[in-house]
Amino acid sequence: MTPDDAPRVRATIVGSLPKPGWLAETGEVVTAWRVPAAHLAEAQEDAVRLWVAEQAAAGLDCVTDGEQRRRHYIWGFFAGLGGIDTETLGLKAVRGKRYREETRVPRLIGGPDYDQPIFVDALKATKALTDRPVKVTLPGPMTIVDSLLDTVGGRGEADLALRFAEILNREALALSAAGADVVQFDEPCFNVYVDKVKDWGMAALERAARGVTATTAVHICYGYGTELVKRWKAQNRDWTHYEHTLPLLARSSIDQVSIETAASGVDVAVIESLAGKDVLLGVVDVGSETVETADAVATRLRAALDYVEPGRLFACSDCGMAPLSRAAASGKLRALAAGAALINQEL
Ligand code: ZN
Repeated sequence: MTPDDAPRVRATIVGSLPKPGWLAETGEVVTAWRVPAAHLAEAQEDAVRLWVAEQAAAGLDCVTDGEQRRRHYIWGFFAGLGGIDTETLGLKAVRGKRYREETRVPRLIGGPDYDQPIFVDALKATKALTDRPVKVTLPGPMTIVDSLLDTVGGRGEADLALRFAEILNREALALSAAGADVVQFDEPCFNVYVDKVKDWGMAALERAARGVTATTAVHICYGYGTELVKRWKAQNRDWTHYEHTLPLLARSSIDQVSIETAASGVDVAVIESLAGKDVLLGVVDVGSETVETADAVATRLRAALDYVEPGRLFACSDCGMAPLSRAAASGKLRALAAGAALINQEL
């Protein structure tokens, strides 16, 4: 047994979990709701309730609402802003055309304007369901700008990212004041545009996190476990992106860094450059319905302990689990906690 105060490896997830089939179409990254509008909020609350209970039963040390109220991890934030149309979409080349030539994306048609907190009520509802630390995820400024067709114009990417960073900062401060234990910015684009990360991406991220007293995190991955992404991964030979970004993050104010190692060709040694930060290590593959064994999770964690102290290591998913089946996601929650427990017995 590990004494309560001994440093130990903890377990958590990136953020999203699959919606139950009675709430939404399953297996999709962008959700189509199955519940009529009059009952949607109540149904979403029920879905949050079951996933918070599942995470607690699995033994996770930090939980999320599984993003059950969002159609998409970015669009859910857009829905609370003025000036963004998430209904009539536009076509744009996103993610450096890594996965496809063009993608249907929301359009910036004005603003953007932030009138009131977007996820604070949802946070309070989740806090009321659990005593465990709660994490809220927000899309990062660089990823927002890449995922939006700007029909207003007149601003470069860096300026627009900074405008979104100011808005994100107001939301992050509100979440922190309302009791969020962790505020995480999702920046998959940090693994695409490594030069822009240096030029303005890091500055925008720092602006978004300025003054936030909750633990701050950034999640950087190679995308959801969809067929398009899996096809790209199967032929990709360059896994050096983190080598450029993690040293920058090590010098930043961000407290935690979430990276993907289970389903990528990334050498875990790269985390050595994150000295002083918490490492949320992706040790379960979100592109496979096969549930990892606790031993497989423990093996991946053990390899990381050559480079990070146990008290700074979290067993985590590679990315959001939204497109998985409920059964697979539930199994992977348990595998994360069980794998961490195996390591803690050894420590
Ligand atoms: Zn991700």
